[in-house]
Amino acid sequence: MILWGGNILTMDPQKSGARAVAIKNGRFQKAGSDEEIKSLAGRNTKMIALRGRTLIPGFIDSHQHLSLYGMDLLQIDCSPGRCPTIDHIKQAVVREVKRRAPGEWIRGIGYDDTKTRDRKVLTRRDLDETTPDRPVFIRHVSGHWAVVNSKALEIGGVREDAPDPIGGAYGRDPSGRLNGILYEQAQFSYVLEGTTGHPPIMPAFSLKDRLRGLRLACDHYLASGITSVQDALVSAQTLETYQEAFKSGDCKVRVYMLIAIEYLPHLRALNFRTGFGNEWLRIGGIKILADGAIAGRTAYLSEPYVGSDNKGILAVGSEGVLHEQIRQGHEAGFQVCVHANGDRVIEMTLSGFEKALKGFPRKNHRHRLEHCTVVTPGILDRIRRLKLLVTPFGSYIYHHGEKMIPYYGAKRVEMMFAHRSFLDYGIGVSGSSDHPCGPYEPLMAIQSCVTRKSSAGEVLGARQRITVEEALQLYTMSSAYASFEEDLKGSISPGKVADLVVLSEDPRRVDPDEIKDIPVDMTIVGGEVRYQKV
Ligand SMILES: [Zn+2]
Repeated sequence: MILWGGNILTMDPQKSGARAVAIKNGRFQKAGSDEEIKSLAGRNTKMIALRGRTLIPGFIDSHQHLSLYGMDLLQIDCSPGRCPTIDHIKQAVVREVKRRAPGEWIRGIGYDDTKTRDRKVLTRRDLDETTPDRPVFIRHVSGHWAVVNSKALEIGGVREDAPDPIGGAYGRDPSGRLNGILYEQAQFSYVLEGTTGHPPIMPAFSLKDRLRGLRLACDHYLASGITSVQDALVSAQTLETYQEAFKSGDCKVRVYMLIAIEYLPHLRALNFRTGFGNEWLRIGGIKILADGAIAGRTAYLSEPYVGSDNKGILAVGSEGVLHEQIRQGHEAGFQVCVHANGDRVIEMTLSGFEKALKGFPRKNHRHRLEHCTVVTPGILDRIRRLKLLVTPFGSYIYHHGEKMIPYYGAKRVEMMFAHRSFLDYGIGVSGSSDHPCGPYEPLMAIQSCVTRKSSAGEVLGARQRITVEEALQLYTMSSAYASFEEDLKGSISPGKVADLVVLSEDPRRVDPDEIKDIPVDMTIVGGEVRYQKV
């Protein structure tokens, strides 16, 4: 295949000014001038005229949840676009009850309490009105809390006098009664198998349904230019889904898996290490969940949330457990990836890495702080010294911007999603969405990092702005580096996998406020056209 007549950003410092690129056997063969590349054409070469459009390497999202999104597509969409009020959510639940077999769980996703028009928080009472005898589970957009009805509490064995689980909490109304909100571990016991040592309280989707959801999810990602993802929470069930999906053809993007820490004993027993697999599906790091969510007000902070004495939730339970998990993952030869949002938990995590690396030194570990949202100069210094990588949210300023000042205050926001500071400190920083907790579109994230503007136009933490070139680097080469795959992907270089995106316009040349609107014309994975705009 030859794509010619384009504006090609190779992201390879060795090769600039190319107009055409040749692909052979799923790999880039060469980039260069039109004449040079066209001379390579044989009788069966497919020629694609770019007509001045921009061609870049495929986007790589270094932290998101493809497998989870696949299952989200099988549930009620309670996002504010679909359900602008609590009443809309209730009506959607009632409709779903009619569609589902008796006894089946009613599940919804995408609920955002700050964006529902009535600004009321959904409670167990609202859901009880829709169906008293069927369990209902509605997940918050942050992924770190959910609202359930009384039947779901009953099935979960959660009684009025239940003490909060370690690393989680049950929401209560002013009179002290359960309001149906499940925070952190209280929620995870409903959805995650393995991580609690028990099967999840909600039954899993069938493999057939999971594959159907995954196929749809891949189509959405491809249409936004994503060709590789790093799935940041993989369980035994997810591994089953991916293995089957690559056989059946339902998974159409490359996947690097961060496996939940609970599986470490099994991985260690089998001598698995980070990097096992192939260019499509690979065992990546070990994932540790240390604190809560930025958009869910559960990140673990040193100073409380604005107007409260709440400092968030240490989801891992204790600093001792966190350090032990880091040590075990590190000594087993894994890349250790710790979800750490708040500055307090980031400090604890850094101490854990310091101890682990001192006790058992290892070069090129590429351990990661997932999100690493609220930072300070002292934290930045320690990250640099430990040579850790960070994966801050790319699109949160744009998508969740309205929550930031009310939750965190203007001063703290100056040092949140600190892309500029990470780059200035020489810290390895990659592009990530945390989708479905934030939107997946890389172009929206690039716009967000470049403008630091919320969707309402409010500028938040302007000093953290980065350039379009830097943002493109984050979503290509730097994300490839975050999975030890910089020799395999991330740039248009001879021998690398032929993953690329054709954009109708050059993100460097349009108004920065319109980067997210640039149409994605075509996405190619491994030399095969997997998305084409109609
Ligand atoms: Zn995540």
